[in-house]
Amino acid sequence: MNRFAWTALLLFCAGLSACKPRPTVPAEEPAVSEAAAPAPVAVLAFEENLDFAATESFAGGRELYRDEVEGLTKRLRERGLDARTLLVPLDGFSLSDLAPYGTLVIVDAFVIMPPVRAVLEDFVRRGGTLVGVCEVGRFPGDWAKPWPFGELFGLRTRVTDSYGTGVAGGPAGFYRIADVRAPDAPLLRGLTNRIDWGELAQHVWATESAGAEVLATFPQYLSSVDDQAGVVVSNALPAVTLQRHGDGRAVFIAVLPTGRIFDGWRASDDALTLLANAAALGGGRRPAADAPATPVRVTVGVNQYGYEPDWPKRIVVRLQGGDTNDLPAGMYRVVAADGREVQRGPLPAWPGTLWRSRFLPVDLTTLREPGDYRVEISVQGLEAVTVPLRVAEDVVGPLLASQQEFWAGMRCGETCHTTDPVPGGYHDASGDWGLRMWSMPHVLWALARFVEEHPENEALRYELDRTARWMWKMAAPDGAPYAAIKSPTDMSPLEIRPAQDTTQRELETRFSFEYAATYAVAVARCLKPVREQISQNLAQELQVCAERAYRRIREEPADSTKDLGNRLWAAVELYRATRIDDYLQDAQRDARALLVRQLEPGHVVDGDVYGDFYADAARTTFSPQQWKRFHAMGLYMGLVELARLLPDGVLRTDINVVLNRLTDGFLLGMSARSPYGQMAAGLEPAGARRPRADGRGFEPPEKFKVYHFSHRESWVREHGLNCDLMAMATLALERARDTGRPELREMAVRQVNWILGANPLGYGMLEGFATQPSPGIDPAIGTGIIRGALPNGISGRGLDNVPAWGATWDSREYWLPQNAYLLTTLSLLKP
Ligand SMILES: [Zn+2]
Repeated sequence: MNRFAWTALLLFCAGLSACKPRPTVPAEEPAVSEAAAPAPVAVLAFEENLDFAATESFAGGRELYRDEVEGLTKRLRERGLDARTLLVPLDGFSLSDLAPYGTLVIVDAFVIMPPVRAVLEDFVRRGGTLVGVCEVGRFPGDWAKPWPFGELFGLRTRVTDSYGTGVAGGPAGFYRIADVRAPDAPLLRGLTNRIDWGELAQHVWATESAGAEVLATFPQYLSSVDDQAGVVVSNALPAVTLQRHGDGRAVFIAVLPTGRIFDGWRASDDALTLLANAAALGGGRRPAADAPATPVRVTVGVNQYGYEPDWPKRIVVRLQGGDTNDLPAGMYRVVAADGREVQRGPLPAWPGTLWRSRFLPVDLTTLREPGDYRVEISVQGLEAVTVPLRVAEDVVGPLLASQQEFWAGMRCGETCHTTDPVPGGYHDASGDWGLRMWSMPHVLWALARFVEEHPENEALRYELDRTARWMWKMAAPDGAPYAAIKSPTDMSPLEIRPAQDTTQRELETRFSFEYAATYAVAVARCLKPVREQISQNLAQELQVCAERAYRRIREEPADSTKDLGNRLWAAVELYRATRIDDYLQDAQRDARALLVRQLEPGHVVDGDVYGDFYADAARTTFSPQQWKRFHAMGLYMGLVELARLLPDGVLRTDINVVLNRLTDGFLLGMSARSPYGQMAAGLEPAGARRPRADGRGFEPPEKFKVYHFSHRESWVREHGLNCDLMAMATLALERARDTGRPELREMAVRQVNWILGANPLGYGMLEGFATQPSPGIDPAIGTGIIRGALPNGISGRGLDNVPAWGATWDSREYWLPQNAYLLTTLSLLKP
């Protein structure tokens, strides 16, 4: 673990003197006095479980899990033990991290991943003592049976509920008393013939011995296998067991004395006595003292497909783990295909700290000569790494060509779903074949925007034609669009392909302000290219649809910034298309309401970030608007388009001031926070929230911090948001057209570099354009692989919002909005 993780640990343990940075492992024998001192006991705090507890209410919440762990550390220290809380990070945990310790305690931890379990098992096999209390790793990422820790503890789950688990709840105090079976066991020293777990004890994980010595038992337990209310079973249930592994011990305490409430350890002295005994028994050795340190992991972020000559070309070397007391340094060399060295230089460290990693970026923007190169990277103390780098005259062209394959591959209503109420459109995602108004307006807008720039492209003109016709038929009688066409179960049969799906699907008639507003936007925007390239009659029909949808949203309140912004955008697009003055008047009113919701400088702790818009009039939050930000695209594009349409005057000046703040503080400010230059995802409150004086809720946060990725507690959870990176790249390019600022184009290109591999995982995400592709979904399910498709992308995990690639759809699924805004970005890059 490096020092950035220490920061997390220190924050995690704020206020507890028990918590210290983990000492560096001495290479040689420790001094005599230290060798004589008993090895400390570590109470483990699993970062994965903190994430889990944050969102799974039955786990009691993140704060409660912290309290259970830190509360135990505190109580053991009060008994004179050298107890420490040890954060087990979700990325990079190894035996060497356990070097100082003799005993480990796991408390109420639902999630422990297999690699972490392997380290813990190794610790015990080497002679360490491990104590598990109640929940120990039942969910290794997903629910697993049999219990993954059963073998280590020498136990089998005893089924006590209808789910086949060993969860056995009861009223508070139901598991208060256990009978001692082995009074001479050193673990039970100081206890009588009964163990009192206290008045809170009501949760157990029920087991039977599969080799473990049973030291104490409960006389009865509750089973809900046949009866949800629970039936009392009079049969001994292991309360404390011991499984030996050579000199090592795995002790399991079935009951949770805290009752899963705050400061619950106060309720059971006996439990603390038992844990102190275990710590004393394990304190005689440090089984991991000689474990080798984890090797440093090196990931090179580089665009794997190619850079156009004038593109920014920043390669970033990411180092995880190892000794982080010194900033790393290295050298790079760029070698042409013929072996000629064309550049070399030092690799200075990036000054910031992020994601528990250190970074060595190198800017190769001056490399303009087309050709194939290799970049040799040597970092002090590590093996050299070589990555290919290509400079080509035309990168955007082939990428754009692949978008034709994508849209053709996602089409619906041609060979599949022909009996839909309105056949046509595109499957929403690889795993969702519904047609959805949360994505289709963005698709239409993107196709219209593309055809404006590239009227010669027949393939995408065809896509615009069929999309515009579908949207026309999706207008409901009241003017708003239908919400979706979907199967009655809202699920797609993913084990077959769409063409084999015979589900009779239906219209969803629900009204959504967002859908109706963005429908009006997109339909208005397509009028010109449809009129000029496709059909004047169709354009006339569509204009009626756009105006009716707009009138429909005008009947509704628009309180959220997102709604206000999308309504503004609709008014602006309608004015562009019709030149009817009422729309311009409406747009000006909505713009004035929006301008006052902008974030001012000085409220973000990570640096010079400002200029985004609060999601509410009370200026308290940016959520949920910022997760799937493209759904609020009207907020940004509405202002950009309005500034283009307004004559010189006060409002135009004001809007440009606001847009300049948005440019500097938000588009450029957020993307300057990472060595990769990608747009950070959002702003969340920094620090603890202050309750309001009247006790009703919280004061608005004073400060915010940057989140680079969606996270467990955002409403999209760990859903990757390449759609938002692409939407902000599109916005930057639109704004670059008005201001001529080259930084904006550079920012947009860096979002493209990001999806092509210049990211902290080193994954090329665009299907068909990667040498190190991101792991995808099983090609046999859903739509299968489609060239040119962009999956959801990287999400953030844990206390430090560390970049991670999800095991399932969250990161890997194709979804229309990603490709919609990729299309606009590419077409604006190459007009
Ligand atoms: Zn279909």
